[in-house]
Amino acid sequence: MNKLLLHPGREKSLLRRHPWIFSGAVARVDGTPRPGETVLVADSRGRFLAFAAYSPASKIRARVWSFDEEDTIDAAFFRRRIDAALKRRAGIPSNAYRLVHAESDGLPGFIADKYDETLVLQFLSAGAEYWRETLTDALLDATGLRLAYERSDVEVRRLEGLPLRAGALRGAPPDRVLIEEYGARFLVDIARGHKTGFYLDQRANRFRVGALVEGREVLNSFSYTGGFTIHALRGGAKSVVSIDSSADALSMEVENLRRNGMNAAASERIEGDVFQVLRKFRDARRAFDVIILDPPKFAPTAAQAAKAARGYKDINLLAFKLLRSGGILATFSCSGGISDSLFQKIVADAALDAGVNAVILARLAQDKDHPVSLNFPEGAYLKGLICRKD
Ligand code: SAH
Repeated sequence: MNKLLLHPGREKSLLRRHPWIFSGAVARVDGTPRPGETVLVADSRGRFLAFAAYSPASKIRARVWSFDEEDTIDAAFFRRRIDAALKRRAGIPSNAYRLVHAESDGLPGFIADKYDETLVLQFLSAGAEYWRETLTDALLDATGLRLAYERSDVEVRRLEGLPLRAGALRGAPPDRVLIEEYGARFLVDIARGHKTGFYLDQRANRFRVGALVEGREVLNSFSYTGGFTIHALRGGAKSVVSIDSSADALSMEVENLRRNGMNAAASERIEGDVFQVLRKFRDARRAFDVIILDPPKFAPTAAQAAKAARGYKDINLLAFKLLRSGGILATFSCSGGISDSLFQKIVADAALDAGVNAVILARLAQDKDHPVSLNFPEGAYLKGLICRKD
């Protein structure tokens, strides 16, 4: 087997079972592994550390499949990993959830979401790409499903030297799938929607916020297809205003309102830039009882954290100003580059500059179908705070 030998001392993270091997740690490659092929990783003295997928184009030169020398990386191995991942997902109140969360489920680069009868898959690393057919068949077998759609049209593929790709992978999956979470229905566009079609990671948080809004006026910023909006209306909100820059997302929200038997006229939709709309609301002295801020990733990596922090502070400051006394802010960040503590500091700075006092009612994270492995802290990317303004 091809071998990848590390520089002295560079085995430390692997001994802690972190799955990434950066190019700078690699002293030598023995043999000529193709992209995605399995290599044996050894320390500078030649001692076994792991089996990993080789990725010559990426700074993450290899991603570990297994730390067990007894393992063989083959179809049976992937079936075992998939079975273990499926076991971690008991009791999710939805027919749409993530089945495999890449590194966090011991399958680096591989993401699998289930939308009712359809699987939506992403192969985001050279290793996942190499085993694409095996992983797809193993997952279909394990779930008993027959339809699979691929959404490997993600920019990170370029870092792995892989082309972007999307389309039917098995059977003839529908473009749109109706899902149900906590009794709320959503139409999901798996072919053109964001990510694999829906923000599954916010499921529990949508429900939780929906329970706080009875009789209240709600502003849902970065509303996408109306996830928080529908749950707020189901929770008895007096009114909901949704803001999103995507006209497609907003028209899907209208569709979703209809699917839930709601009158679209009971809520308002604004197509625009949240930064600008919130400023206009401030100037017009509009006020709300509950504000949700669920922006896209401003900082994919720690390098963009400073610029991202300004963006987060800006919208949180405006939100604190728009909130009535006793009002609730549910604010989120899905930036991997922003830690929990930095996010809390940004929100604190925003409150300070807005001249308001607020307390934290709850700390939120990604739902449990997006598990966080203790060996891979990077897998914890979504953080949220529910704050109450005095
Ligand atoms: N809360 C949603 C997910 C939000 S994803 C849910 O639960 O489903 C982030 C959304 O922000 C996307 O729909 C995207 O279209 C929108 N968006 C990105 N930048 C924006 C901006 N500057 N102003 C308004 N919307 C924006």
